[in-house]
This record gives sequence, C-alpha cells and structure tokens, in this order.
Amino acid sequence: MTTSEAQAPGDAAAAGGFPVRRQHAPTSSAGRALQGSGAAPAGSPPSAADPDPGRREPTGLPVPVTRGGHRAINVSCRRRLLSARAAAAASYPAAGTGSARRASPCRPRPPAARRPPATCPCSAAVAARPRVPPRPPSAPCPGRRSAAAMVFQCQRDSWARQFATRVVSCRAAELRPEGGGEPVRGFQVVLEDTILFPEGGGQPDDRGLIGDVPVLRVTRRGPEAVHFVQEALEPGAEVLLSLDWDRRFDHMQQHSGQHLITAIAEHMFGFKTTSWELGRQRSVIELDTPSMTAEQIEALERSVNEKIRERVPVVVRELAADDPEIERVRSRGLPDDHAGPVRVVDIEGIDSNMCCGTHVSNLSDLQVIKLLGTEKGKKNKTNLVFLAGNRVLKSIEQSHSTEKALTSLLKNGPGEHIEAVKRLQSSVKLLQKNNLNLLRDIAVLIARDFKSKPVQSQLFVLHRKEGDSEFMNIIANEIGSEETLLFLTVGDEKEAGLFLLAGPVEAVENLGPRVAELLGGKGAGKRGRFQGKATKMSQRGEVQALLQEFISRRSPEA
Ligand SMILES: [Zn+2]
Repeated sequence: MTTSEAQAPGDAAAAGGFPVRRQHAPTSSAGRALQGSGAAPAGSPPSAADPDPGRREPTGLPVPVTRGGHRAINVSCRRRLLSARAAAAASYPAAGTGSARRASPCRPRPPAARRPPATCPCSAAVAARPRVPPRPPSAPCPGRRSAAAMVFQCQRDSWARQFATRVVSCRAAELRPEGGGEPVRGFQVVLEDTILFPEGGGQPDDRGLIGDVPVLRVTRRGPEAVHFVQEALEPGAEVLLSLDWDRRFDHMQQHSGQHLITAIAEHMFGFKTTSWELGRQRSVIELDTPSMTAEQIEALERSVNEKIRERVPVVVRELAADDPEIERVRSRGLPDDHAGPVRVVDIEGIDSNMCCGTHVSNLSDLQVIKLLGTEKGKKNKTNLVFLAGNRVLKSIEQSHSTEKALTSLLKNGPGEHIEAVKRLQSSVKLLQKNNLNLLRDIAVLIARDFKSKPVQSQLFVLHRKEGDSEFMNIIANEIGSEETLLFLTVGDEKEAGLFLLAGPVEAVENLGPRVAELLGGKGAGKRGRFQGKATKMSQRGEVQALLQEFISRRSPEA
C-alpha cells in the first residue's frame, strides 16, 4: 500500500493542516493499560503473565471492565480517569513555546537563586539530543494551549505493555533517519494517550506497534507525544498500542541504574553527576571529578549491587510545586512558568530526583550493575561507563564466546590467553625483522646480478609480491646507473601495491606522472626517483610497453 492510498479520505484536512484534538463521548473507552503481554485487565488477580502486580506504582486509574472481548469503562470511572488526567496534565513543567528544550519536563531551569546548583543529569542529556524540527509558521503550537505538559500513561505505569487508545490526529510528514540518509515519508500520529515513551531525560524513545503498524520514532511536541508511522491512521479510530518491551525494559534498567549510581557516587565520594548518556551498548555517567581510583570504582560497584540485593523500592511521586521537600530533591530546579505538581522519582532512603523517565519499581529489577571503568571526559570530568541488568548478561555471553574462540585458536585455557598472545606478538616481531633483512639481501643480490652482466640493458623491470619501498630503493641504489631506467613494483599482482621509477632525471620527470596514471595511483619524486601507490598492478604490462617505446625513441639503435 502506498502512503497516498493509506491516507483516509476524511483525513485530508488533518493531514494537511494542524490537527484539532477531539473530545470523545463520555461512554467511549479511554486509555487503558493491559498489563503484561496478555490481555489481563489492570486489577486482575496475579497470573503467569503478571507475576507481581503489587510492586507497580499505584496509578490511580479506574479499573477497566471487559465486555465482549472489548474493554469499556463506565461513566464514573470515566470521570475519575478525566480528573486523574487533569491532575496528571498539570504535573509537568511548561511545554515549549517554540523551544524544544523548554518543552522537555527534564529540562527544568532554575529561577533566580531559588534553586540549588544544576545537578540533574537528565537536563544535560536532553540538551544534547536533537531538537524537535520547527513546525510550519501557520500551524498553532500545541504547547501554547496549556502551561503544563501532559503526563503519559507510560510515565504513570512503566510496566504497561499494551494499551487501548484513540487516534487524535494524523498528518503527512517526513522522518530523518538517526544515522543520516534519505528522509522516510510517513505520518505523524497523535493519540489520546500513549505507553510509548517519547525521548526525554537522557532516555531514548520507545518502539512498538499501533495496531499492526510499526512506530519508527516517538518524539515530544509540547504536551503531545508524536508517533511516526508509515501508514495513515484515521482520527477517531480506536487502536491498540503494543510496546517493544525488551527495548523499554532495557532503558528502564539503565535509567534507574544511572539514578542509583549517581546517588551513591555523590554520597560516597561527593562526585556530582553533570550529565549521562544511555548508549546502545553501554551507558556513561559524567562525574564532576578529574579522576577516580580503581578502589573507588570497586567500592561504588559493591555498594550499588548491595542496594540491589536489599530490594529497595523505587517510587514515583508527585509533589506540589511549593512543597518544601522540592528543595531537597536532586534537580536543576523548575522553569519560570512551571505550574502544577512535580514528578519525583524516589529510591527509598537513597535518592530523590526530578525525572520524566520510565523507571523500575524496585532496585531488584536492576538485577546487577557492572562498572566497566572510567574514561577521560571533558576538562576536570570523568566518564564512568556502566552496564545494568540484562546488558551485563549479554556482555558476559559475548565475552564468553570470544573466550571460547580464543581457547580454540590459541590451544590453551583462558588463564593463559594473555601470555600466549604476548608470545605470538614477539615471535611475529622477530619474523618481521628477519624477513626485512632477507629482503635487503635479496635486493642487493638482484642488483649485483644485473650489474655483473657484460652488456646492461637500458630498461630493468622487476615485480615481487613480497617487498616494500625500502626493497625497491635498495635495488635502485645498488644499480645506481644514470643510463638504465628501472621500473620496480611490489604487492599483489592484480590489485594494489607500490611502484618506483628510477633512472635519468629528465626521463623520470617526464614518465613518472604517466606511469602513476596508468597504474591508477598517485606518486611524487625528485632527482631521478618517482614512487607512489598503485591500485591497478595489472597494468604493469602497459607501463613496460610505454617505457620500452620511450627508450626506442631515445636511441633507435637500441
Ligand atoms: Zn532521570
């Protein structure tokens, strides 16, 4: 199906202009999370797919009712949901009015001297992420509709894997791939609510499906999450969202892991976190210290894993903006126009941090944290590299398979791998040295053989697969004749290699660039030497013919 065919007939206005958020009927189903991979409604007794519902954060959302395979919601539940939404909608700092940075709830800025120094790593990470592309000037900015950004279902319940919601708008758009390349044509879809986290707080965006349509990117636009898909979806249509849980849970483990490491590093050593990055393979915390000793890293790793074993709960709370406790929360403060409650992630007894990300409910969900060591950071900073949760298992699996391959190659056990490689390296060095000496000897013998002939030809051509620039120069030095033109090459006979043209100064100056051109390479030279790299060694025959012709013309009797 092409994208134009997929566009619903009634969607032209929404696709072309800026969408209008629809008010849905009171009896319509609203956003409802389906916990776990099965369709068990929230509030159902624990099942195999839902082993521990009690550890989730209380969402305050109504209990959905299952009806004829579809889940519906009654009017009183609906009211509760709307009031819960209204409260939630006020719980984020102001949406951007033209500024993507301000739009991010993890980018609170400190108003004059009221807040402690900037410490929230989320903020720095958000600043480093690409900005949301500017909207066309004719389109009204949704961020202006409300001073407070929305809280999405993924933030109320980070464990929800499926969710029924409704399409609010769908408009044609293009997506620029993260790694560069041609833009992808598709549609920006806004839903009533979402369990797909738009990027923020250093945490990348989620992937998933709307129905069976893959979501390629989720970004935050003011109070909305914008889902990029390649098929048009009809505004008003009920859809089932499915989350790519593996990707999300990985992000939850790394993000909560970062909060824990940050808190303990500050508590143990006073090293404040200035930014962090959740990478594809590993994550990095930038600490405000010029260095960290191996003992400190070891003690930090021991302590964070101890906290994981203690199964400390992680709780998301909403604090009133004037709550004095906010002063004690690790953050960069609130933006000037902030209204409504503030979202705070607590690791009980360890840390309180203003954050928009999706988090685990208990440190035991992190399984394990491995600190891989430090790398040099910016001036007076240290980058601490870590893995959390399943990444540790994956890393061990990779290391183990590498170790098995090395055991087979080196024919000894893992404990002897390093010594075996060291022995191999020194033996290779010795062989290279011997090889070089032999090549030199051969070069000298070749030159002497040439000179020993009673009549020396005016052209000397030699190719040798093994050899280098020095090998060719030794021959040229040894022959050293002003009368003979030498064309020497080393390397693969059909592909790339090196060449040297030596002989009478004028002839070499004249012929050098043409030889280089014929060999598909580049070269330079002076005083009767012209040498360079060749990419088409197969052209050596042509070069030889050219040189032969040159000599014939110079001395027809030759
Ligand atoms: Zn965070």
